[in-house]
Amino acid sequence: MHTTVHSSFKDLGLSEAILHDITKTGYTEPTPIQAQAIPPGLAGRDVLGCAQTGTGKTAAFVIPMVERLAGKSEGFPRGLILAPTRELAIQIQETIEKLGRSRRVYATTVVGGADMNAQIRGLRQRPDIIVATPGRLLDHMWNGTINLLKMRILVLDEADRMLDMGFAPQINQILEALPEERQTLLFSATLPTNVADLARASVKDPVRIAIGRSAAPADRAEQALHHTTREDKTKLLLSLLDADRDSVLVFTRTKHGADRLGRALGNAGHKVATIHGDRSLSQRRAALEGFRRGTFRVLVATDVAARGIDVANIGHVVNYDMPNSPEDYIHRIGRTARVKASGRATSFVTADDHLQLRAIEKLLGQAIPRAAGSAAPAHPAQPARNPRHNGQRDARPGQPSGFRPRRPAHARQSHGA
Ligand code: ADP
Ligand code: MG
Repeated sequence: MHTTVHSSFKDLGLSEAILHDITKTGYTEPTPIQAQAIPPGLAGRDVLGCAQTGTGKTAAFVIPMVERLAGKSEGFPRGLILAPTRELAIQIQETIEKLGRSRRVYATTVVGGADMNAQIRGLRQRPDIIVATPGRLLDHMWNGTINLLKMRILVLDEADRMLDMGFAPQINQILEALPEERQTLLFSATLPTNVADLARASVKDPVRIAIGRSAAPADRAEQALHHTTREDKTKLLLSLLDADRDSVLVFTRTKHGADRLGRALGNAGHKVATIHGDRSLSQRRAALEGFRRGTFRVLVATDVAARGIDVANIGHVVNYDMPNSPEDYIHRIGRTARVKASGRATSFVTADDHLQLRAIEKLLGQAIPRAAGSAAPAHPAQPARNPRHNGQRDARPGQPSGFRPRRPAHARQSHGA
């Protein structure tokens, strides 16, 4: 690629006010996705950005949004950001609070599992931007407490995750309710067919930005495999926890498994918090805050609960259970080795995980090294009896996504023309 890479935020055409907030936030130079997405974003172009977790996508869309929406309050929100989970939405809101301060651009968050009336009060404060998960946004639309007619900018963040979580119908309805005349910025870590369909239905003549897959977390996180058995996993994890003092994010496959492991680690004397989809929003926030501050050294999480979690300095990610999809592996280990730090990712592999492991290594384009002292696989060549035993996600071959291509703006003017 021969794209010019700017090494300073000053070269991107930003206001002094936002440069001040960027510096205060602690960013000294733009990441590659920021350097490439901010100029077209400022110019009002649509953007289709493909970049791994941890590459700085949030500021890549928040900065142009703040600049474009500043000083033009019309009493209606004019920016909408859709994100897959409430945690992620809250993190985006926090970034807007930092980067929008001097420009006086305000956001409110509309997410599931939180008080609807509090959100309605937030919406009455005339925010410039709404950060929302798709389901709750629709609830407000149906209640008449949100009107999307004045939206000028739409951001679809972690589009692949939103579709994986089954939000396609909601996103479709939201797209229908938005003005055709708008700017759309779509970000995704991967570009499978359903995301390409969503892109066709939402963005127009976009600037395409791909931050190479070679910059995958694989290059920054030090990965290792432990061959083990279901019964030995907890013992193995406890011995890893004893080996150093790193903060550890542990992934389990099920909510039940997360609870059970959380209790076992707690009983062994570790400071541990657990998050999964059955926890209330306040429980999840308390767990994340405690983990961020170091009150808890270990956070046990399921994929859905951990999606997009941004905690700086996670030293070690442990796949206690292997993920259901290879993309989840990338997302999980992207939780360590954020922008500049580097970390470790350890996977516990049992004889049942054979197929998953192969799929992951294929996606990575490399084998994951076996940890020192890890036993040889018990049944190296024996495939799992039922390859679908834990793959809730893999049964969606070529399913039509239901996204219709976005109509050109003139197609709507059938009446007055
Ligand atoms: P992504 O959305 O691509 O996963 P995030 O936007 O969550 O990535 O950013 C990952 C981390 O990098 C965050 O902690 C964020 O504060 C930090 N970050 C983002 N941009 C910069 C920058 N220009 N310089 C330093 N750190 C940055
Ligand atoms: Mg992100």
